[in-house]
Amino acid sequence: MIQSEMQWIKAPVSKGTLIINAMNKFDIKTQFLALMFVGAILVTYLIGSYERSNETARMNETITADADATVSLLGNLMLESIITEDGPVLETAVNQALVSKPKLQSVIIYNVDGVVLARAEKDRLVATNDTLVFDRDILFEDEPFGRMKVIWSTAADKALISKNVRAVGITIFVAVTALSFFYIALTHFLAMRPLANIHHRMSSVMLGEKHERRKLDSFVSREFRALDASVSVLHDTFMERDQREKELLLAKESADQASKIKSEFLANMSHEIRTPMNGVIGMSELLLETELDDDQRLYASTISNSGTALLTIINDILDFSKIEAGKMQLEPESFDLQSAFEDVVTLLSVKATQKSVDVSLHYAAELPRNLIGDVGRIRQIITNIAGNAVKFTLEGHVTLDVTGDVVGDICQLSIKIRDTGIGIPKEMLCRIFNEFEQVDGTTNRKFEGTGLGLAISTRLVDLMNGKIFAHSEIGEGSVFTINLNLPVDEQISRNSKIPMSDLRNQEETPPRIVRNSLPKDQNQRLHQSPPLHRVKDQRIGSGTVALNKTTGPTVLVAEDNKTNRLVVQTMLKTAPVRLVFAINGLEALEKFESDPPDLIFMDMSMPEMDGIEATIKIREIEARSCALRCPIVALTANAMAQDRERCEEAGMDDFLAKPIKKAQLLEALAKWVRIPESV
Ligand code: ADP
Repeated sequence: MIQSEMQWIKAPVSKGTLIINAMNKFDIKTQFLALMFVGAILVTYLIGSYERSNETARMNETITADADATVSLLGNLMLESIITEDGPVLETAVNQALVSKPKLQSVIIYNVDGVVLARAEKDRLVATNDTLVFDRDILFEDEPFGRMKVIWSTAADKALISKNVRAVGITIFVAVTALSFFYIALTHFLAMRPLANIHHRMSSVMLGEKHERRKLDSFVSREFRALDASVSVLHDTFMERDQREKELLLAKESADQASKIKSEFLANMSHEIRTPMNGVIGMSELLLETELDDDQRLYASTISNSGTALLTIINDILDFSKIEAGKMQLEPESFDLQSAFEDVVTLLSVKATQKSVDVSLHYAAELPRNLIGDVGRIRQIITNIAGNAVKFTLEGHVTLDVTGDVVGDICQLSIKIRDTGIGIPKEMLCRIFNEFEQVDGTTNRKFEGTGLGLAISTRLVDLMNGKIFAHSEIGEGSVFTINLNLPVDEQISRNSKIPMSDLRNQEETPPRIVRNSLPKDQNQRLHQSPPLHRVKDQRIGSGTVALNKTTGPTVLVAEDNKTNRLVVQTMLKTAPVRLVFAINGLEALEKFESDPPDLIFMDMSMPEMDGIEATIKIREIEARSCALRCPIVALTANAMAQDRERCEEAGMDDFLAKPIKKAQLLEALAKWVRIPESV
């Protein structure tokens, strides 16, 4: 059934249409025909019944008048014989009456005492329900002389009535049916055909099919023409919409492409900028370790500070574009939340002390210590907001309040960062969470900053399904609240609840020394422990051990950039290792085979053969020759998470992002190579 309807309807345009179809089993013509037929029968029946009752009433009237006249005539004619009670004459008279009046069935004449004087009856009587009985007194000058009972047949009249009613019925039925057909034909030409036409178009329009616009007949009414015109408008609207969708799709594709190119461009730019930055920061660090006069020290530390500030900006822009491109991925792991906060406070303490601002941390004692989350990103958020609090507070204090509830295995954290700083105008409170929005947007503003910190923090909090909001009073200070729900690491937290920590940057609580606070992906270790089979009985000294370039463990550095080679060489100047350099992956391979090293620092992008390919080849050689696995540490300006993944997949063991700090390099060395005590 649905199939046939669909043929008519062309196709189910929507679920709604299908339901409507399923409800209406018959098409409108069949419905009309059925209704007309029932109507014709009903009209015929009603009019027939009316006609029959009318005719019957009229017949009764006629018969009554006829019978009355007959009785009165017979009475008058037979009055004398009735008075004289002359039976034979009366018998003859009533028999004659029966003959002359065919509808008379029987006539009985009584005297005043009710004695029958004469009686005559038809040989064949009709059924009693086809008769009428008349019982009348016979009067002379208003005096009764007897009674006459007459039975009158109505059969002939009834038959006539039935015949008449049938004739009327047939006429009406034929007329109504003919009218119905005429009406259906009219409906077909004036309504159904144009409607089917319009519906056909409408279906094609809805299904987006190509179709020819059939012209409506000239006699089709204004209403259908209007409907047809509406379908045309719908058609045009759909065409425009489809066109717009096509254009949007094309625009989206090209925007996606542009965004991909932008991301790649940013990644490349970041790489390109980080490489020379490595030189700038590394060299200025090394310069600061030499003997310098005050002016030279000032210049060198300015270069170092500016380089670090520039790197922060590059990192912010890179983070923001990663988030915008939807490429930022959180890396949850178990972490110590209190330590993370202490790290941030320690880091900020340096700046805060310089401007006499107290920084204090209140970590609720009942909170679990170990949670699961992306600690690098959480630290980044807290550093941004608490950093702003310190930056925009000239004197007074900054408080970090960490409270929360544990519901099931989720810790509902509420982090409040208050300051007594300059405050934020009401109308700016929402806007500062947008990128590049700053209360003081002028170029010669008092406070430094790119206007990206809060935008990045907000998006990171969003990624963690958290909330961030701010309250502030001009001149009074600001409160930034971050709500985060983080799973509790039950295994570690169970045994490690510690008393509330109140770390102040005052003398009685000296700040803990924090390790190189760069965002996580700048200094991410791929593995936590070195492969034991490779460890030799060697340990690196404190840096004061004399350099022995011939007897120490061999470290192969594959790096194409001359400055960077110089940086690594100078940074490891005091380390008791033998340095071997390769300027590309191919050379690194050759040196690996001819002079097997104890550790390789491998740049990722190099000409001829990059670090990834070289690592894969080295791992193949090791597998073939059953050699011990040589630790390979990626040394690269590619700071994206996927770069780390590529390194890991290729078989690298660790990852150091450029610009490399001396301490990081020495730390990596200490981690992967042991120097013998005797060295
Ligand atoms: P940036 O600090 O680099 O300018 P942010 O996105 O971190 O960018 O902050 C945006 C702006 O919000 C700041 O420039 C400043 O005007 C305002 N702001 C943020 N935190 C505070 C605060 N604690 N006190 C006063 N103003 C603030």
